[in-house]
Amino acid sequence: MAGLITRFAPSPTGPLHLGHAFSALTAWDLAKAARGQFLLRIEDIDTARSKPAFDAQIHDDLHWLSLSWPEPVMRQSERRTAYDAALAQLEALGVTYRCTCTRGDIRTALAAPQEGAPLIGPDGPIYPGTCRHAGHDNPAATIRLDMARATALTGSVGFTETGPLRPGPHQFAPDFLTTHVGDIVLARRDIGTSYHLAVTVDDAAQGVTLVTRGADLFDATAVHALLQRLLALPTPAYHHHRLIRDETGKRLAKRDDSRALSLYRAEGASPTDIRRMVGL
Ligand code: GLU
Ligand code: ZN
Repeated sequence: MAGLITRFAPSPTGPLHLGHAFSALTAWDLAKAARGQFLLRIEDIDTARSKPAFDAQIHDDLHWLSLSWPEPVMRQSERRTAYDAALAQLEALGVTYRCTCTRGDIRTALAAPQEGAPLIGPDGPIYPGTCRHAGHDNPAATIRLDMARATALTGSVGFTETGPLRPGPHQFAPDFLTTHVGDIVLARRDIGTSYHLAVTVDDAAQGVTLVTRGADLFDATAVHALLQRLLALPTPAYHHHRLIRDETGKRLAKRDDSRALSLYRAEGASPTDIRRMVGL
């Protein structure tokens, strides 16, 4: 059996571009170097934005890059039962609450003069806590993590970084998490889960021992380390890799289809060319 298990976990909401290729190839190379296992996971919880055609194109582009993985792959759209169970576990710990705020409500609360400039967390502006003690029981509400209660249970949480950017152990104190992360969303009302909950549950379910992902997700990883502690799941090692930028230094966004792998393929680029273009 493979010792190291890592994964590439794209969302099928657009074509893969050079940044995705770099992430997938980095995970693949780390797995190969350790004679470990590379997994593909399709992160399609956002059913409104995910498209089967992009799922198919992801498979095709990655095969073209000479990557392979066990099939069938895990698809987050089929994992609702596991997310519900994790959510129930967190509710039983008393670290969740229901939030009925709209985006507009949150914007208004953050604009109040006493709030000062809003701090930005992994999901955008830190939630001002409006519903924290409101005692809503609306079953259709958003479910948030009460960060103060959660960190009172866990104390500091952390993970080991094995990538070259910020190597070593990283610890996040309760104070940091309440101020700079805040009451993140565990379950959106439209999809019943969130990126943070789904990724934490699924990495554990797949026995992932090394999470390979972009450096932009470093603060999100602090959330995942916390959720792992609350859910009594193991914390894998993390390799946060550099981000691929365009010639103006701007990070490639999912919307930036001008760098879609399929376009380079159509122009006759080889997988070796792609490796060279991303600096591998
Ligand atoms: N699915 C997410 C994305 O496409 C990130 C996956 C991860 O957690 O590494 O950006
Ligand atoms: Zn609210």
